[in-house]
Formats: sequence, C-alpha cells, structure tokens
Amino acid sequence: MVVSLPRVAIPYGRQTIESDDIDAVAEVLRGDWLTQGPSVAAFEKALAGRCRAEHVVAFSSGTAALHGAAFAAGVGPGDVVATSAITFAASANCAAYLGARPTYADISPETWNATPESILAAAGGEPLRAAIPVHFAGLPAPIAAIREAVGPDVTIIEDAAHALGAIDQGMPVGSCEHSDMAVFSFHPVKAIATGEGGAVSTNSADLASRLRSFRTHGMVPAGDGELGEPWLAEQHTLGFNYRISDMQCALGTSQLAKLDRFVERRNAIAARYREALAGSDALELPPAAPEGSRHAYHLFAVRHRGGAEERLRLWTALRARGIYAQVHYVPVYWHPWHRDTYGVQRGHCPDAEDYYAGCLSLPCFPRLTDAEQDEVVAAVLELA
Ligand SMILES: *Cc1c(COP(=O)(O)O)cnc(C)c1O
Repeated sequence: MVVSLPRVAIPYGRQTIESDDIDAVAEVLRGDWLTQGPSVAAFEKALAGRCRAEHVVAFSSGTAALHGAAFAAGVGPGDVVATSAITFAASANCAAYLGARPTYADISPETWNATPESILAAAGGEPLRAAIPVHFAGLPAPIAAIREAVGPDVTIIEDAAHALGAIDQGMPVGSCEHSDMAVFSFHPVKAIATGEGGAVSTNSADLASRLRSFRTHGMVPAGDGELGEPWLAEQHTLGFNYRISDMQCALGTSQLAKLDRFVERRNAIAARYREALAGSDALELPPAAPEGSRHAYHLFAVRHRGGAEERLRLWTALRARGIYAQVHYVPVYWHPWHRDTYGVQRGHCPDAEDYYAGCLSLPCFPRLTDAEQDEVVAAVLELA
C-alpha cells in the first residue's frame, strides 16, 4: 500500500535560520554573557548603522519596545494617541498601558495605511499627544506628511514592525528623519528573527536614555545619583524588565547581515504574485511602493472583492489544501477590550472595515520556493 503523506502546510510567514545563525548563538552559549553582555550592544550598533539612526535600544519584544517608546515620549493618563485602525493591537495597547486613550485612524483605500488627515480626524478635535503610524505590510507610511500635519509638538512613533529593510524616498525606515522614534519586531514572521525581540531607533540621546532606563526597571547608573554610593543603581521611574538576551542579539546580528537578501527575495515573490494574479477579477492586489521607495513585503495581502463571505470561503478552501493564508488585521476597535473600554462603534472607520472584509495574506517569506508559490497561485486562481 502506498501511503502518501500530506505535504507540510505552507504558512503565511516564517523565519529563515541558516547554519551560521546557529553558530552565532552557540558561540554566545559558550561565552561569559547570556544577557546584558556585549552582544546586545553589538546588535544595537549594527541596527543603528543599518537604519542610519543615532541610537538603537533593543527590547524583549516589539510590544515592549512600543511600550518603552510611548513611555519615553511622556505619554500618560488622559493623553490621546492615534494609530492605524488596521494594525496589530499592540500598536494601540502601548498607549493604554500608560493610561492614555488610543484612537483609531481610518486607512486610505489606495495605500492601506493611515493618512495625515485620518490621523488628525481620529483625535476628534482633542489635542494629540502622539501618533503611531504603521508601515502596513512593509509599505512606508507618509511620515513626512504626517509630521507636517501634526506639527512639531506631537511625538511620532513609527510602528515599523513590518518595515525593517523598507526604504522611504531614499532613506531607510528607522532613520527617524521625520519622526521621533521607530519600533521594530524580530518575531519569527518578521523580516529578521531573534525568537522574541524588538528595538527602538531614535536620533535623540534623551529618548535613548529614557528607553534604556525603562528597559531595566527605571534604574539609572548611580554615578550622578543623590546618594553618592558608586555601587548603586537608582530607580528614578517605574520601569520593567524588558531586556533582550545576548543569545537573541547574536542571532539578530547574524540575521541583520542577511536583511537585503531577505527583502529582495520577498520583493521577488511579490512580483511573481503580481504577474500571476493580475488577471484575477476576484482579487485586488496590494499597493506597490512608489518610485524611490522600497516595500519590505512583510505581508503580501490581497483583498477579495467579494467581501467577507467569499474571503471566508477562500481562506477555508486554501486551508483544506494546507495553505495557511491569514487575515491581517481585524480593526483594532473591534476587539472586545478596545470596544468596551473606549466605546468605539462599528462603522467608525469605513475604509478599514471594507479592507478587513476582504483581506487575506498569502504565503510570503524568503524560503518559500517557486514550486510552493506556484501551488499557492494555482489554488488561489482556482478557488477565488
Ligand atoms: C509584530 C507586531 C508588533 C509586536 O511585535 P512583537 O515582537 O510580536 O511584540 C507590533 N506592531 C505590529 C504592526 C506588528 O506586526
């Protein structure tokens, strides 16, 4: 009897770990420092160079990095903070952690990103304390225009979790040319992996030192402390243990050297999808990067024109074939906690809700083979 094993499922995203990545981690394990050692600083320096930012502070996750960035910005109780309605909940939660109120900006149907106008509208006439635009799927959001719209006093924190390796009009995302801070994630589905991990880039020495302190319980070296006892680190604010380990950072440095190869491969996969799916009447293809910019293609999301029912049918049929397409994202204010805490009703962001009704992220990651992609394309064309 011939037993045919089902093919391993094709996920929407996954890490690419090679033997030199494994060697880099093993070397740390044989050394003196598992955490708070030289690999953390080396990773931060490499990432700062890569982003063309003055400072990088690495965190235990992208979520912790967002929390740190909102804290460093001085976000607190009563403040209004706007983010995109179509994002992972963490983009909004970081404001809520600090007692501020997250507000949800509608997306542009053309770019699937929040716009300067929608960010201002989200504040509903109240003064904005901070804006957290998201480079959705890896397409640079219009940070320069957002800065112009909100003015110099609103802190702009780019949620760049999808956009490591993206280029915005010649400058790497993370350079903070028009923002105060940019936040990255190194979760395995993201551009580079450290297991869990995140980082904030900034050109402000003051923000960088607030980020470092927040990462370690709010402690600062006691050299300048009131007590004058050189062995002390004094706690000046209420921080957390949000540190990342040396094992993770060794992996991060090794992965970062491959970032261009990874992002180029993602762009090649996106180009193949565009060509193969161009004839589909059922699917709207994602916005491409404008001239002078580079998409990072964390996601290759399409929108089913048939809406929620057709998307569910396609999602289910693909799954039955071991193709694990995924939905990114439910509008943040539809989450019961956000809905119940802030009382935002359905219909609040019509374009975000329209997008959500049809969106589906197809498998897109560096190790996806052409044969696997062909299988995905054939299934999508047949089933959409
Ligand atoms: C992944 C992600 C985060 C959170 O990062 P973690 O490292 O998983 O905590 C935040 N924002 C967006 C848009 C993300 O995709």
